[in-house]
Amino acid sequence: MKRVISVSIGEIALKGLNRGYFEDSLIKQIIKNLKDIGFDNIYKEQGKIYIEGDPENYPEMINRLKKIFGLVHISPCIRTSKEIEDIQKAAKTIMAEAIENKQVKTFKVETNRTDKSFPIKSPELSRRLGGTILKEFKVLKVDVHNPDTYLYVDIKDKVYVYTEKIKAYGGLPVGSNGKGLLLLSGGIDSPVAGFLMGKRGLAIDCVHYHSYPFTSERSEEKVKDLARILARYMGKIKFYSVNILPIQKEINQKCPEREMTIISRRFMMRIAEKIAEKNGYKALITGESLGQVASQTIEGITVTNSSVDIPVLRPLIGMDKVDIVDIAKDIETYETSILPFDDCCTVFLPKHPVTKPRVEDIERSEENLNVEELVEEAVANMKVYTIE
Ligand code: ATP
Ligand code: MG
Repeated sequence: MKRVISVSIGEIALKGLNRGYFEDSLIKQIIKNLKDIGFDNIYKEQGKIYIEGDPENYPEMINRLKKIFGLVHISPCIRTSKEIEDIQKAAKTIMAEAIENKQVKTFKVETNRTDKSFPIKSPELSRRLGGTILKEFKVLKVDVHNPDTYLYVDIKDKVYVYTEKIKAYGGLPVGSNGKGLLLLSGGIDSPVAGFLMGKRGLAIDCVHYHSYPFTSERSEEKVKDLARILARYMGKIKFYSVNILPIQKEINQKCPEREMTIISRRFMMRIAEKIAEKNGYKALITGESLGQVASQTIEGITVTNSSVDIPVLRPLIGMDKVDIVDIAKDIETYETSILPFDDCCTVFLPKHPVTKPRVEDIERSEENLNVEELVEEAVANMKVYTIE
């Protein structure tokens, strides 16, 4: 009998020919994330990945595994031989733990016999193990409709017995869908947007705009902290830091006050597009959500969008703030996002921003600016950091 962790890998199992590639990239990622904890072995067996190490470390290992995109469930298991006595013994051990830790009163055995050469058929094995458990634990009853716990038995080359299926995020392995550039502010929304696209297999790097010295160094540190939290899920993140103050000053002097926000937003997009062209990002990602603030009306988003050709992904576009906040809390960016630091957008905040801008008007205002040059200059002066 040996304790192992099993990991099930939902969606990628559907991807036919690519499946082997995805499995291997997940195994690589698992190895990377668990390297400093250390483990003895990792192998795949019929749709699942198994990890064996020191059971003392399993809680921390499971915590890390939960953050790897592409994994669906994680189960601490007992692995045994195919001898019926061994399987019964493992079942009793696992159920004793479930009774102690989860106050389980009812159960149902669910056997999955992948190895068809195993002589006992699934329903028969479930019945026999159910009998074993009932005899051993007088407090337990079988409930086939709504049990407190399932006792899962997977018959493969070896046999795996477990009761827990700890939910992970699912999605696709990071990087399996190319890479994108996230416009990361210090707010609640953009880290969530980055997380959601990372979950769909995009590797994510970040660009942040500040107005130093009008905004503080500490406020940029806060955004780096957010990137650091995202890096727990995505691995290493490149962080492009761009000073947008010279551009804001130009806009402030040469364009109508009420267009300040929308025009700076268009510069953010253009600068991000330039960085994307030079570094192979296939899309920009923002935390925009329809109607959330004055600049996120459909007209505002249209005008922002029309400044670039690159695809802009807005995974939060149809979400309510409360739901975004729930995700932010779950992925642990929320507490950092709500720290009160200044933001570049508040530097020249207009009193009455345009809420229904028109592309023609904004483009006319921008004729007063040397757009190309301002973008080039901002990119030339940007700093690049690596966040781990
Ligand atoms: P967030 O919570 O992400 O700051 P928000 O609700 O405050 O979003 P806006 O301020 O209108 O919305 O910003 C919309 C999007 O523009 C942000 O989600 C982000 O992707 C991008 N953005 C805004 N400010 C910055 C910045 N200083 N640096 C990088 N990206 C930014
Ligand atoms: Mg913001």
